[in-house]
Amino acid sequence: MQQRISVSPSEVNTYNRCETAHRFGYGHELSPLNVSDPLQIGLCFHEGAAEFYSSLNKFRAGELDDIEDCRWLANLQMERSLADFRYWEENVLAAKDAFNKYLDIIDTLEWEVLAVEDYVEYPVSDEINLHGVIDLAVRIKRAPADKKYLEGKVVLVDHKTCYNFFTYAELRLHAQLPKYVFIANKTMRYGEKVHGAIVNQIRWRHDARDKVRRSYIDGEDLTYEKQVNLVNEHVKTANRILERRHLPLSQWKDKATRVIDNKDICGKCDFADLCELEVNGASPNRMRTEIETYYQRKDLSYRETRKAS
Ligand code: SF4
Repeated sequence: MQQRISVSPSEVNTYNRCETAHRFGYGHELSPLNVSDPLQIGLCFHEGAAEFYSSLNKFRAGELDDIEDCRWLANLQMERSLADFRYWEENVLAAKDAFNKYLDIIDTLEWEVLAVEDYVEYPVSDEINLHGVIDLAVRIKRAPADKKYLEGKVVLVDHKTCYNFFTYAELRLHAQLPKYVFIANKTMRYGEKVHGAIVNQIRWRHDARDKVRRSYIDGEDLTYEKQVNLVNEHVKTANRILERRHLPLSQWKDKATRVIDNKDICGKCDFADLCELEVNGASPNRMRTEIETYYQRKDLSYRETRKAS
């Protein structure tokens, strides 16, 4: 029996963005106390969407009388985050606004919901499990004219809340959904083959004219070769991560590079102040104070090792 370790797509993405940010997040196991506004909006929206799509099944089963009850339950779910102070009120309002506008636009019965927030996992090497949470798995009931061939087929859906829409060229290179399709098909998670993926983008910007953009990724943009190649890329980076995990933190620090001076990456980095202090030669005490004031322990419970069969 050999132990496999789970390396998440988001850990791989963090490592590929900046090895030092990865060290702070996954070596020191830090997560910022104050989650950024866009992330709060995104998380809150996801909670509402999960509740809505779960409720749709209850409506179909006759447990809810009115489809509007699904909307009501979703809004209630988003408001719960106010009661336990997880998100700022303006971010909850922005998430609710985006969500309700989304529901006003979409055909709520276009999809049969097969799974919501579905945790999946698959061994991709002797040492590594790939895992993730699929926002939504659906069977398409009604599709736009150019996607009629997907009607009756199973697809995976990823909700993305954004300030500006991603272009299709950017989404085509998105690694997460092809990896999830790979796992779903290897495990026959939904009892049949998954035929494609949808990136469901919702703009939370108040003045945005277009609120929703659906991008279907299927056919020649979601080949089996693409899925395998992206899984192999995941394994390559995960192997490097495993080497780091075996090091004491002082050696991990010596190995980890910084992308410093990269406005796009450092400008959005949760560890920018900590990184600057470290570069500046701050004392261990000063570093500890910064960590105790602005960070909490990151939840990495998914890392627990599992036995390979
Ligand atoms: S500020 Fe830049 S270099 Fe420093 S950890 Fe963040 S991304 Fe890396």
